Amino acid sequence: MAARPSSTFLRTAGYVGVLLGCFAAGMLAGWNQLARRVNNQTYDLLAKPEAGMKAVEAVIVAIDEPTLREMGELRNLRPIVTKALRKIAAAKPRAVAVDLILAGATNPEDDQDLEAAFRATPNLILGSSVASNRAWEDPLPRFAEAAAAVGHVHYEEDRSDGVSRQLALENIFAGQRRWAMALETFRVAHKAEIVESPEDLEVAGIRIPAARLDETRPMFIRFLPSIPTVSVLDLDQHPDLLRDKVVFLGVTASGANDRRTIPSVGTVAGVEVHAHAYETLRRGEFLTEAPDSTVVAVCIAFSVAMGLVFAYFGGWRPYVIVLPVLALALYLPALFLMQGVVFPLVAPAAVAWLSAAGAATYQHFVVRRSLRQSESDKARYQQAIHWAAHEMRTPLTAIQGSSELMTRYKLPEEKRGQLSEMINSESKRLARIIQTFLDVERLAEGNIELKRESFAASDVVAVCMGRVASLAERKNIAMTLDSPVDGTLVGDRELMEYAFYNLLTNAVKYSPPDTHVRVKSNLRGSELRLAVQDEGIGIEAKEVKKIFQKFYRTKRAEASGEVGTGIGLSIVQQIVTHHGGRMDVTSTPGKGSCFTMILTAQ
Ligand code: ADP
Repeated sequence: MAARPSSTFLRTAGYVGVLLGCFAAGMLAGWNQLARRVNNQTYDLLAKPEAGMKAVEAVIVAIDEPTLREMGELRNLRPIVTKALRKIAAAKPRAVAVDLILAGATNPEDDQDLEAAFRATPNLILGSSVASNRAWEDPLPRFAEAAAAVGHVHYEEDRSDGVSRQLALENIFAGQRRWAMALETFRVAHKAEIVESPEDLEVAGIRIPAARLDETRPMFIRFLPSIPTVSVLDLDQHPDLLRDKVVFLGVTASGANDRRTIPSVGTVAGVEVHAHAYETLRRGEFLTEAPDSTVVAVCIAFSVAMGLVFAYFGGWRPYVIVLPVLALALYLPALFLMQGVVFPLVAPAAVAWLSAAGAATYQHFVVRRSLRQSESDKARYQQAIHWAAHEMRTPLTAIQGSSELMTRYKLPEEKRGQLSEMINSESKRLARIIQTFLDVERLAEGNIELKRESFAASDVVAVCMGRVASLAERKNIAMTLDSPVDGTLVGDRELMEYAFYNLLTNAVKYSPPDTHVRVKSNLRGSELRLAVQDEGIGIEAKEVKKIFQKFYRTKRAEASGEVGTGIGLSIVQQIVTHHGGRMDVTSTPGKGSCFTMILTAQ
């Protein structure tokens, strides 16, 4: 018969189950749109630029509302760009990026002028974008020929909140690739080449850790507090502002429909995003996103740590140890960001907090409860030991007295025979008391070896009734077998006899003299019921469940004056369950009880 799993194993399995549940719940809490928003906001807060102007190379030349009011309209930008470029080129900047899509022809004179202005602008970068997902909208060839490079002007928008935090350094559409305008501008301004590998890009000695993901190579833009901006209208007033700078020319007027939301700041024009991205590249201030595997590994570590702390430390100690770990879980995104890694807040924090709460609750309720249970078991066990010690005194005194008599006096043979008979039977009684206690412990721990033999149920009943007969006679209790016993049982016959004998002795013990104990048997299919019915003291309904607990005795039993340990029934139940059966009890206080063993017969 299979050994039952030990209670330590069950407790550990339960604990691991609770932790796994907390881990799974934490992961679910960490991987959804809401969590993504919270992670994003944490990032925005942590990556917020410090106030104060840093040395900036980029300058934005803005086609703003006043420019449009003064010089033209949105539908006809080219003459404005031409005029602006002339002034910009005169200021001798390092490079000029024009954030406009110039794919179609307009008024021939305007296009002619614009081409001339482009040709007069060294290190010129023009924009390209994918229009309605059909094709790249490149600048007209006449413009593109005048440019040093053409870059795409797309930026990523986070699906959860629509905020632009990253830029796709690479954009492939219809098999054609465009590098981002900011990257091309950086390359042109530094007269370098773009060296690529699947993990990164290298331009002018700067390694950009932008791995190829879905053909985009996303890069976090480190937004600055501000980038110097000058209106096209005011170009004349700042002749030196553009010297040696990298100019980003684009529309900032709100009518242009080219506004983006960026972290902390709010909405800005697309041209500003490109300028910030350019500054990120120039400064080499790159961030990478922590891979999911790292996040999951950190979550597992948190869950395991919480589990171990609550498993190994008792009292207030685990709480003291766990507090800094919980704080760490909240602080991790900041720590990682210092190392240039973007790390999520929600999943690790949720896993850490839920695991701590789960582990603490489990330990508090389950472990403490089982501790209380084992303490009360221990107390009852001690009581029983006292009883056993007390019980042992009687046979011991008899043995001692008899042996003394035998050694001191020369007794007649007959007397000597009687005394040695007494020593023999009293030693057996002692051995039985000891055996009972050992059986209880071995059965309770589930490491008793069960024999598997076939035997007739009727034999067990007959043997036990025979054994109890003299006990019943002494109280003038009639004991009858009301129905023939059928069925063959498989298991340990000795233990089965022990169990049934216990039910019979209890029936006699807890019944007044001159009553009737009935043994009934019923075999239906493979279910064999063996019942012992008495007309004794009975058991209160609320105590019925408890009588199978080790060392439990009912108040009525205590009051009856019958000695007992409260062990017998706990062994009976264990024997019956070890044989795949169960016990059933019905009782009416003052009227009698019926104990039934329900077993499987062959
Ligand atoms: P013990 O008889 O040594 O006290 P048991 O484990 O055999 O221990 O029984 C546990 C308790 O169940 C008894 O103390 C008694 O209170 C109750 N009990 C068992 N059998 C009967 C019965 N036939 N009638 C009334 N009470 C019973």
